[in-house]
Amino acid sequence: MERPPRSGSSFFPEPFQDLVDLFRHLPGIGTKTATRLAFHLLQAPDGERQALADSVSSLKERLLPCPDCRNIVSRPSGETVMPSLCAICSDPARDPSILIVVEDIQTLYSIEKSGEFRGRYHVLEGRLSPLEGIDPEKLKIRELLARLENPEIREVVLATSPTTEGEATALYLSRLVKPLGIRVSRIAFGIPVGLEIEYVDEITLIRAVEGRHPF
Ligand SMILES: [Zn+2]
Repeated sequence: MERPPRSGSSFFPEPFQDLVDLFRHLPGIGTKTATRLAFHLLQAPDGERQALADSVSSLKERLLPCPDCRNIVSRPSGETVMPSLCAICSDPARDPSILIVVEDIQTLYSIEKSGEFRGRYHVLEGRLSPLEGIDPEKLKIRELLARLENPEIREVVLATSPTTEGEATALYLSRLVKPLGIRVSRIAFGIPVGLEIEYVDEITLIRAVEGRHPF
C-alpha cells in the first residue's frame, strides 16, 4: 500500500504516527488536526474505530456511477447487476430540457446545495489537459453526446472551472454541442459576495462584466 511520506522524526510510536500521516495527507487537514483525530480514534470505543475502518475500506465497492450522469449511487445488493439512476436523474420534478456539465461530483454537489439549478447533470470526470495526457477520450464526452440524442434536451450549461483547462474544455464541448441545434451557455463567473470591487483581479472583473444580467 502506498503511504504518504513520513513527517520527519516523531516522538509518537510508529502505528500512531502512521495514522497521523494518513490523516495529514487528506485535504484541508494539518498536523494539529491529524493528531487530534488520531487521539480521538485511539480513545474511541472499538465499535466506532471498526465502523470507520469498514466504511473507508468498502467505500469504492459500495458505490457505482449513475448510468446517466455519472453521479454516485449505491451498488445494488443481491442479484441485480444494473445500478439504478441517481436521485437527481430519477426525480420527475427535475427539468429534463437542461443539462449542466461539471468536471467532478464535488461540483455537482456544490451546485445542488445552492438549490438554484433544477435541471440534470453530466459529470465529465475531469477536464482536458494535454500536458497531463487528458484528451477527450479520457472524459465522459461520448456519454454526453449519447445523452444529447434525447430530443427533450434543449440547453447545455457548461460549468467547467474558469481555469485554462476548464475554458479549453468548455470551448471544445461548445463546438461539439452547438451543431446539434442545442443551446450552449456558460455559467457566469464574477466577484465574490462581500468583497470590495477594488480588490478583485482584472480577469475576474472582466468575467463579471461579461456575465452581467438585467437588473
Ligand atoms: Zn444521475
